[in-house]
Amino acid sequence: MIYDEILVRFGDLTLKGKNQKIFLNSLFKLMALKMEGLDVDIENQHDRIFIHLKNEDCNKVIERLNLVSGISSYSLVKRCDSDLEIIKKTSLELINEIVKKESSFKLNTKRANKDYPINSIEITKRVSGYILSNCKLLHVDVHNPEVLLNIEIRRDSAYLFTNEYKALGGYPVGVAGKGLLMLSGGIDSPVAGFMAMKQGIEIECIHFESTPLTSIESAQKVIDLVKKMAKYSKNNKINLHMIPFREIHMALLDNIPESYNITIMRRMMYRIAERLAKKKDCLCIVNGESVGQVASQTLQSMNTINSVTNYPILRPLVTYDKQDIINISKKIDCYDLSIKPFEDCCTVYVPKAPATAPKIGKAEAFEKAFDYETMVNEAVENVRSITIDMNSDLDITLLGLEVREVIDSLKMNK
Ligand code: ATP
Ligand code: MG
Repeated sequence: MIYDEILVRFGDLTLKGKNQKIFLNSLFKLMALKMEGLDVDIENQHDRIFIHLKNEDCNKVIERLNLVSGISSYSLVKRCDSDLEIIKKTSLELINEIVKKESSFKLNTKRANKDYPINSIEITKRVSGYILSNCKLLHVDVHNPEVLLNIEIRRDSAYLFTNEYKALGGYPVGVAGKGLLMLSGGIDSPVAGFMAMKQGIEIECIHFESTPLTSIESAQKVIDLVKKMAKYSKNNKINLHMIPFREIHMALLDNIPESYNITIMRRMMYRIAERLAKKKDCLCIVNGESVGQVASQTLQSMNTINSVTNYPILRPLVTYDKQDIINISKKIDCYDLSIKPFEDCCTVYVPKAPATAPKIGKAEAFEKAFDYETMVNEAVENVRSITIDMNSDLDITLLGLEVREVIDSLKMNK
């Protein structure tokens, strides 16, 4: 591998004025955590970060870099002595390594060391002249080059780098505070969780589980999804709160007209999520809703469901097309898990004709049929919480049929 280091840029962060220091500290910490176990050094320079590759495989480092939110882009860098002859030779080596077909080319020089005896225009002229006469595949195009070689002359050495690769962007996870993600076993909610983390929000997850009405495998699926999301988290771990929802689920089936079942189920979910969010110091609720996907996600439904809470509800996917969501789901390696066909509480006894325009007044009237307040309180009190590490091998499917029993027995055996 010809490269010595990776130059990491953090774009948007530089706009953050006096918060900049906090952001940069978080970013630096996050990078150090994600690079754990790799043979690299991380060097913090005020406007960017260098990762010195030492003996590490550059691809492995890039794989880890792609887990760090707050990085806008990165480039692979070759460092050499700043003697002009050496710069010429090293640039050509780098070009020969990456240029395999006829391409347009541009060279940019930045002279950070103003004591350097030759100015940047002259350096550009001499080095590009040398490259063009030795690499016949290249022709100059200063407006839209396919290959851009940057040379930066600093005091210690010269830095040569070519392409700029886009990274996750956003903010270091955690700097924005904490949110509670409503996590189902579907495609959307893990993507919503990822988007929230990318925007700096640390997440805890809440899952409404109805075992043994739903299978224990459906709960395992949620654990496995949390494990995938944990790669992007602040400490490689995420807390998962399993809410025992079977009793409410049964009460809804017994007491609520079929067409309002889902509406009221989701009102219960919001009520419970709000209480747990407050308990866990989460400043918002995040979910995977997207306008119009299903009956419960028409704007009228959203109104009626949302009216049970004043808490901020973030819906990162609200205007996303399903295919775009799937693409992200694949990118974060959740898709194959999400499409596993285990039912969750929203897919058991799906009503034939759910209301697509449910009314708040009607929903409130139907809810009077049972003492939901007590049930909501009990559900929150009986939450079973576990912390899932990105390397967790937790398998609950062999331990029993009900999530609450399984988690209790896990804790007792500790
Ligand atoms: P997903 O693919 O995330 O399941 P969906 O398109 O199937 O979403 P719904 O099933 O209507 O939509 O759920 C909308 C959102 O409500 C989900 O994205 C998730 O945030 C939340 N949600 C649904 N079911 C549960 C559950 N059992 N536990 C926690 N949150 C849930
Ligand atoms: Mg779903």
